[in-house]
Amino acid sequence: MTSWAYTKGLHDLGDGCYAYLQPDGSWGWSNAGLVTANGVSLLVDTLFDLKLTREMLDAMAGVTGASPIRTVVNTHANGDHCYGNQLVTGAEIVASAAAAHEMTEVPPALLDGLAKAPGDVGALFSKFFGAFDFSGITPTLPTRTFEGRLDLDVGGCRIELVQVGPAHTQGDVLVHVPDARTIFTGDILFIDGTPIVWAGPIANWVKACDLMLGLDVETVVPGHGPVTDKSGVQRVRDYLVFIEAEATKRHEAGMSAADAARDIALGEVRNWGDYGRVAVNVENVYRQLEGSGYEGGNIVELFRRMAEIEGM
Ligand SMILES: [Zn+2]
Repeated sequence: MTSWAYTKGLHDLGDGCYAYLQPDGSWGWSNAGLVTANGVSLLVDTLFDLKLTREMLDAMAGVTGASPIRTVVNTHANGDHCYGNQLVTGAEIVASAAAAHEMTEVPPALLDGLAKAPGDVGALFSKFFGAFDFSGITPTLPTRTFEGRLDLDVGGCRIELVQVGPAHTQGDVLVHVPDARTIFTGDILFIDGTPIVWAGPIANWVKACDLMLGLDVETVVPGHGPVTDKSGVQRVRDYLVFIEAEATKRHEAGMSAADAARDIALGEVRNWGDYGRVAVNVENVYRQLEGSGYEGGNIVELFRRMAEIEGM
């Protein structure tokens, strides 16, 4: 396999595909993608704020000058994949119906409010999101939605959108470019960083990994972290299976979710970024086992647990 440098900026993957990478891939430092054919382009995701998205679009100008972006696909509803949408003017914006709905639930103003909240809530959230500027963002929602699968034609290049969520979020979508043997996975893959199961169930996410492992792809662009291949998919799958088994054991033993997250020995996964996300992942397994959903106030508590585990 070819290995790609993990440096900030646009990387030419060949066959009209590009990855825009933002090390170190931690909270909010997401990747995006570009597919170009015969004078038109499709953008996979925008970034977390307007400054970062503008910088990315400038870096892409050498390509998009001759092949303008006609379509944006948002892989899911998290802000680091869609808050920059307003800067891609005139393009059709495509997402799964579930992702489009979820975008209305966590508007930029909510994150901005949490990061600027007085006292320890503000202090907590600025540890995670302090590097970003959520001002000036106009929520810009998808103009076209779908469920299941949607094939797009970009300058004669076939692009397959495959909904695999709910998993990381409610409506995760993979962007597969068969002729380039390339897939953009959104946050269905975090590489060298810890996956976070906001929606679940984990079983859906494992199924998504199996789907990717079964495709004829060589180049795999994750939502966060360096470009990888199927070995990266396998590592994420292994992590998810491990967490589900360990959390289930502790649930059966009557341990609380918070204690279980502290108790699970992460082994080499302890070297991945943001390993404290085990707190959210264990909580998700518990919710699935108990058939209960999240409540609003819970999010702050989950961020507290993650910060505590990582000693932030
Ligand atoms: Zn992300």
